[in-house]
Amino acid sequence: MPDVAFINGTFVPLAEAKVSIEDRGFQFGDGVYEVIRTYRGRPFALEGHLARLHRSATALDLALPYSNAEWTDYVREGIKRASYPEAKIYIQVTRGVAPRDHAYSAETTPTVVMTVREFHPLDRSLQAAGVEAMTIEDIRWGRCDIKSVNLLANVLARQQVRQAQVFEAILIKEGLVTEGAVSNVMVVQRGTVVTAPEGPRILSGVTRATVLNLARSEGLPVQERFVSQADLYHADEVFLTGTTVEVLAVVRIDGKIIGGGRPGPIVQRLAACFTSRVSSPLALA
Ligand code: PLP
Repeated sequence: MPDVAFINGTFVPLAEAKVSIEDRGFQFGDGVYEVIRTYRGRPFALEGHLARLHRSATALDLALPYSNAEWTDYVREGIKRASYPEAKIYIQVTRGVAPRDHAYSAETTPTVVMTVREFHPLDRSLQAAGVEAMTIEDIRWGRCDIKSVNLLANVLARQQVRQAQVFEAILIKEGLVTEGAVSNVMVVQRGTVVTAPEGPRILSGVTRATVLNLARSEGLPVQERFVSQADLYHADEVFLTGTTVEVLAVVRIDGKIIGGGRPGPIVQRLAACFTSRVSSPLALA
């Protein structure tokens, strides 16, 4: 089964896919992206991902070349061609090819790249036991709400994670928890689910929105506000949300045990709700 690539309207084998060295994505990191996964061969929350792609592109004054209906067709076609049991789809849109100059021209045609590869869901044992995280200073720029291909701070954070042999970095800006390097972070304080508010300091996760809605429909109080690093260590429960991690308990941070050192009742409940949500055909495009 092949990894599939798509460049500006044409599907090609991944190994043959090429873009120009003058592409502004390569020269400046001038572009945006999305990551979508499938459940039972169908993309989850595609509408939410496409809406965020539009928001990111608009914030960079970048015109997306396709309508949502066209994106949906291309994503479905890519999934069909790759024919993996489960796939992850990366969509990247850069400002396109132009002679190197920081300032851009509205005339430049965006480059669209999509890849479809096999997705390996997380080991169930991680879900059952929870994972370990470390805190790292959040050194990212002032528009983390834009899903930009500029990921240097995340790259450095994930490398520290790898070296420390933990699962995720929890980013701290001025003493407050923003999010993970590849996930959003939620804590439970006396039964209330608390997570950083949408805004320039976090990427507004598609999974975050799904989980907050599930929490509300379960009757759990939800607060969108920042918590401090100290509050993080003393939370009853801490968990991550994201396309690849779904809903995942964090049971140890910087070597400190969180809650009882095992996934708590609220994360277990929300993880179960999330599993049934992604099992619903209505959630899939
Ligand atoms: N925050 C960051 C920095 C991310 O990179 C991601 C996912 O890649 C998320 C949050 C979670 O977003 P989503 O739930 O849309 O996957």
